[in-house]
Amino acid sequence: MSIEVKDVVKTYGDQNALNKVTFSIPPNQVVGFLGPNGAGKSTMMKIITCFIPQTQGSIKVCGLDVREDSIEVRKKVGYLPEHNPLYLDMYVKEYLHFVADLHRVENPKKRVAEMIETVGLQVEQHKKIGALSKGYRQRVGLAQAMMHNPEVLILDEPTSGLDPNQLDEIRNLIKKLGKEKTVLLSTHIMQEVEAICDRIIIVNKGEIVADNSAENIKQAAVKQVVKVEFDQPVKEGKIRSLPKVTEVINPEGNTWLIESKHQDDLRPLIAKMANENGWLVLEMQKEKESLETAFKRLTKG
Ligand code: ADP
Ligand code: MG
Repeated sequence: MSIEVKDVVKTYGDQNALNKVTFSIPPNQVVGFLGPNGAGKSTMMKIITCFIPQTQGSIKVCGLDVREDSIEVRKKVGYLPEHNPLYLDMYVKEYLHFVADLHRVENPKKRVAEMIETVGLQVEQHKKIGALSKGYRQRVGLAQAMMHNPEVLILDEPTSGLDPNQLDEIRNLIKKLGKEKTVLLSTHIMQEVEAICDRIIIVNKGEIVADNSAENIKQAAVKQVVKVEFDQPVKEGKIRSLPKVTEVINPEGNTWLIESKHQDDLRPLIAKMANENGWLVLEMQKEKESLETAFKRLTKG
């Protein structure tokens, strides 16, 4: 396992930030750590990266205990902290050389050039960090995190504050990195985990409330909604006879919105029903259930 977290408790004074958190992540998985503000995401990440100690429980990174082998753990882990602290007065290249020296990487010149290329900083490499946009600063942060070629990347809200174009670019970059590395990234943006993660761990108030593939979490969400347009008026009662239908809405003409708690796709059943009744389906669409529903349900209250 790349990361093994077992019964981890973290208290700040008398506040429990993490309460018996357990999960493990195998190599080359991209895991989204999702939760509302204050859920304990950053705390968990700081503990995994040896920046603060846990109060109780154990954590291993690539088989190494974060308390006993913190120096070795730091070699295995790349960390992009939440507020990406950078030296604004340093030049991009100068800063990356500084990071390479800290990690004592072999052939720093080559490695810095590689990192600049990997994160797409070629054009900006001679600028001062302070002169870069937020998206490019995040790239510098990612290059910093990856400099020593760690097996595990811990990225705390890597896309916060980016505009939509920058978002796409950084997400694609993380996806690419995930092919060779274990990535744990935190976010409070649902679409983000949908876009890049294999697996989602949802935390709320210091506890894990869901841990599953993005697909399964959506499946467990309350419902699916199918929008269908028939060629003729149909009886609402017929539609209601479909399995586990919770709501039927007729917003206009022969268009219907059908909500169901059924796990399987409702569309084949609707097509079959239409066929049996001699109706034509002019248009049919399963509204993509967003993770938002599941997230709200799991973290509310
Ligand atoms: P998240 O990253 O999910 O927003 P955090 O891990 O930053 O959550 O915080 C979890 C909880 O611990 C919050 O209630 C926060 O106020 C508290 N907390 C975080 N850091 C400290 C600290 N240094 N001292 C006291 N409380 C803290
Ligand atoms: Mg945080």
